[in-house]
Amino acid sequence: MSESEQFASDNYSGVCPQAWKAMAEANCTDEPAYGEDRWTQRAADDLRTLFDTDCDVYFVFNGTAANSLALASIGQSFHSVICHELAHIETDECGGPEYASNGAKLMLGQGADGKLTPESIEYLVTKRSDIHYPKPKALSLTQATEVGTVYTPAELHAIRRTADQHRLNIHMDGARFANAVAALDVHPSEITWKAGVDVLCFSGTKNGLALGEAVVFFNHELAEDFEWRCKQAGQLASKMRYISAPWCGLLEGDVWLQNARHANGCAERLEKGLQGLPGIRLRYPRQVNGVFVEMPEPVQAVLREKGWNFYNFIGGSARLMCSWSTTSGQVDRFLADVRALVA
Ligand SMILES: *Cc1c(COP(=O)(O)O)cnc(C)c1O
Repeated sequence: MSESEQFASDNYSGVCPQAWKAMAEANCTDEPAYGEDRWTQRAADDLRTLFDTDCDVYFVFNGTAANSLALASIGQSFHSVICHELAHIETDECGGPEYASNGAKLMLGQGADGKLTPESIEYLVTKRSDIHYPKPKALSLTQATEVGTVYTPAELHAIRRTADQHRLNIHMDGARFANAVAALDVHPSEITWKAGVDVLCFSGTKNGLALGEAVVFFNHELAEDFEWRCKQAGQLASKMRYISAPWCGLLEGDVWLQNARHANGCAERLEKGLQGLPGIRLRYPRQVNGVFVEMPEPVQAVLREKGWNFYNFIGGSARLMCSWSTTSGQVDRFLADVRALVA
């Protein structure tokens, strides 16, 4: 079995051919540095076209930086950001958002299937209003969520209504934004600015780039001086075109959406194959490119011995992630191995 037999993460995947080709093209000439090049201009314009609005676009190296700097731009050090208790910004960014904002506190809300509810937000915002409590200033929503579910446009609008009542800005962690768009089959604007999202961190890495996330501000005021924030944080690439050109490759002909649809489709195939097998239970409804499944420990152990790589997440369930590079053959081989073990 080759080492590519994995469902560990979508960031185990390589660079998709279209992004690679754009990178090679960008390598043919010298270009101005620090984002003054034509690739960066084009990628930002392509994102404005994609979202069908005049947004401000910045490129950074990774998701932790994108989230941390975007959240820092929303508030002051005495503010707080409400997020779900399973949010990546809480569990997997090593305090990056708090560090970038000089101390803004994350406040943890709840909701089924990894989704923050208006009630939970309301509770956290109204619980206290005195000067000893960090003032809620922003919400952070992960779309798609850490457990592979999506917020529908109606859910986003309901959250926006609560946010409006309390004057909160909305940040969206879009590490799997493409997968959410593909799953919901909506225009990207429907689940961002039309639903009141102020700033989106749109991941290229998990969609098929080597690296690079776009921070997309729909609220221009929040973007003020953002380039200085990026530079100070060591997130301004001098050879920026090597981040932005691959983005052009993803955006041209909607490769980003094809990649996401492919990954979601592979996860759906996995889900269908696992459903109904003895001792196997899906932990969350599968909506995007990850399947969370409870499997007997000995079954997991043998699968790993056979060379299958996957993580155990949230509550110990196995997380099976698919990406643009997952193949249906790989899914079928995994399913055959599981069936042989549980039958
Ligand atoms: C992968 C991921 C990120 C970004 O992680 P980096 O390793 O910093 O690029 C952010 N949010 C979520 C939900 C993720 O899954």
